[in-house]
Amino acid sequence: MRNGLKAPTDLLIGGGFRPAQGGRTLDVEDPATGERIASVGDGTVDDARAATDAATQALPAWRAASAYERSRILRRWFGLQQADKENLARIMTLENGKPLSESYAEVDYAASFVEWFAEEARRVYGRVVPATRAEKRILVLRQAVGIVAAITPWNFPAAMITRKVAPALAAGCTVVLKPAPETPLTALRLGELLLQAGAPAGILNIVPTSEAAAFADTWLGDERVRKITFTGSTSVGKELMRKASGHLQKVSLELGGQAPFIVFDDADLDVAAAGITTAKFRNAGQTCVAANRILVHERVADAFTERIVRQVQRMRVGHGMEDGVEIGPMISERGRQKVLAHVEDAVALGASVRLGGQTVSGPGYFVEPTILTDVSPKMRVMREETFGPVIAIARFRDEREAVELANDAEYGLAAYFFTRDGSRAWRVAEALEYGIIGLNDGAFSTAQAPFGGYKESGLGREGGKEGIEEFLETKFVSWGAVGMGV
Ligand code: NAD
Repeated sequence: MRNGLKAPTDLLIGGGFRPAQGGRTLDVEDPATGERIASVGDGTVDDARAATDAATQALPAWRAASAYERSRILRRWFGLQQADKENLARIMTLENGKPLSESYAEVDYAASFVEWFAEEARRVYGRVVPATRAEKRILVLRQAVGIVAAITPWNFPAAMITRKVAPALAAGCTVVLKPAPETPLTALRLGELLLQAGAPAGILNIVPTSEAAAFADTWLGDERVRKITFTGSTSVGKELMRKASGHLQKVSLELGGQAPFIVFDDADLDVAAAGITTAKFRNAGQTCVAANRILVHERVADAFTERIVRQVQRMRVGHGMEDGVEIGPMISERGRQKVLAHVEDAVALGASVRLGGQTVSGPGYFVEPTILTDVSPKMRVMREETFGPVIAIARFRDEREAVELANDAEYGLAAYFFTRDGSRAWRVAEALEYGIIGLNDGAFSTAQAPFGGYKESGLGREGGKEGIEEFLETKFVSWGAVGMGV
């Protein structure tokens, strides 16, 4: 690869790297320049089937291995990711565009799931339940669900993979993974490191492809695959759920968001302004938990807006490899056009542009960090995921109106609010219909807490002790004639 970076470019199937059937390739580009940085194998449906065959072969031994053995391999994988931090981070910045400092943070975040689930592997307990009859015993066993198909997005090229693969492997499942076609290099490097950690062949198979829907048909049409775990858009999530009904595979979905960010008049405005930097500008606003709707109490709206304008004016936009850059490009021209369309729509419906609002001239898919004021609920910025560096500020009069505005969404992933009033903190945290609440906190993602959404933001949770549950079946054994010589 370019710049001496280490990443495989072939498919990982059955413990070895090999080209796609027919030698097909797909190009990976740097979104900050539009230049091709590598070509990787472009998997066909035959490759998808071969991956399932490999996962099938690997399953009995992996499932039967002791939790301690699985845990040891995961711990070694964690250590290798840490040791490869510089390489992994640079690959990520090149193929995703995020600033290098964010890529370093993502390597740590991604690896933290591997460490966490290496530990959780040893804590998958069953139970013995008192029976109604003296000669009976009731046992509850927890077992791996089997082969897992995982489909992941480009916005967190490492963490969205480890958040699924680590708990699946910890539980004793084997995995077929389709990473996003925009960011396959990070995925393939993670696979290579897992092999170096001593993983048996076939427990993780990685197949990039340009034929996402055909892969979903292949995997969900195969009754050997028992679970689909997906992170991406709500529309694709719904399509996968429909397809999973054929063989009734289990489904976990981490989908879109439209996070409200509420600033009450008793908030510490410094804390709220600092919170918005992470909540809005991480990955140039291309995160599922990005603060999309900034709802500010009318008494502090002007002061807060001025603070944010000054703060955002100082942020540097550019290539993620350059020192001091805080905002990188959109992943694609399509992504950029969506952001610009949201700004245009808001302006047409009466919003004012306080800052930015244009593309950045030159190569790459950059958009200026943008601040819109006077936004109202009917605008697209208030209803859809913008997935870009746009702050849209609306005002509210009281707590009731703030909660109503915040809950007026089909999504329910994350919500942020800022207050110094303890009773209000409790009340509002309970009233918000969201799976994750950032209370005076703009950066909550962490391996030990359950991450996931209400409503159309998904099903299931990743991380925390809940994360491994998604990959476990429950079996009830009723044992009779105990103590009767049987
Ligand atoms: P996307 O749904 O277009 O793509 C996600 C993945 O699905 C990619 O691997 C893609 O190749 C694949 N895919 C696309 N069409 C498919 C199809 N018809 N069948 C099967 N697979 C298909 O989403 P995206 O634009 O790449 O990612 C951004 C979305 O992901 C946003 O909506 C964001 O909110 C969401 N996201 C959610 C979380 C979360 O934890 N809830 C985390 C990150 C991103």
